[in-house]
Amino acid sequence: MSEKKTALVISAHAADFVWRCGGAIALHAEMGYEVTVACLSFGERGESARLWKEGKSLQEVKDIRHAEAEAAAEALGVHELVTFDLGDYPLHLSQDDKMKLVDVIRKVQPRFMLSHSQYDPYNTDHMYTTQIALEARMIAQAWGHNPGEKVLGAPQLYLFEPHQTEQMGWKPDTFLDITPVWDKKRAAMEHMNGQVHLWDYYTRVAQQRANHFKRNSGGQSGGRDCKYAEGFQSIFPRTVDEL
Ligand SMILES: [Zn+2]
Repeated sequence: MSEKKTALVISAHAADFVWRCGGAIALHAEMGYEVTVACLSFGERGESARLWKEGKSLQEVKDIRHAEAEAAAEALGVHELVTFDLGDYPLHLSQDDKMKLVDVIRKVQPRFMLSHSQYDPYNTDHMYTTQIALEARMIAQAWGHNPGEKVLGAPQLYLFEPHQTEQMGWKPDTFLDITPVWDKKRAAMEHMNGQVHLWDYYTRVAQQRANHFKRNSGGQSGGRDCKYAEGFQSIFPRTVDEL
């Protein structure tokens, strides 16, 4: 494991990291983690409807979304925002693109990773990204890939909450209290001007997850109050010294 505290978010589109794990990013940044966010696309075609309705060109939409993502990342305390600009709807990665993502993983050496739900029939870019994240994680662990580089350990891959939660087969097993950094998440969401309709929606989601946190926190978190939380589903088992 890296000496430095690091984390990596792999986000299909420019704003996903804000809605789905902005609280986790801000919280860990405050704990001294260097959180890197890899955005595979700007969500320019599929998640920028308002900008298209205003008559913006493709390049204008991308530039606006890029600037919004940069502003949101700054509000959350992101260490580095890596933009791949691979296009969306559909998102597709060539073999070279995948290897660039592997390079990012090996450079960051994350203690944990975050990406989308494994199933998302509304947005195949999302589930494709998770498949790519798993593939890239696997390659980064391989001693035979670019021998001499530092191989990746076994960071957890947490799946953050999708839109249309119940349709995605997404079942959270981890709730993170993000109350202390809620103002940062809300500020980051408000940088995403192309998706104003989601600001209040994701505020309500955080309040609902806070209820789940409280309902389950008696033994593990002292039963304390929680106003905002994020839920995650972990892919890999947790290895512990004590239950
Ligand atoms: Zn998305």
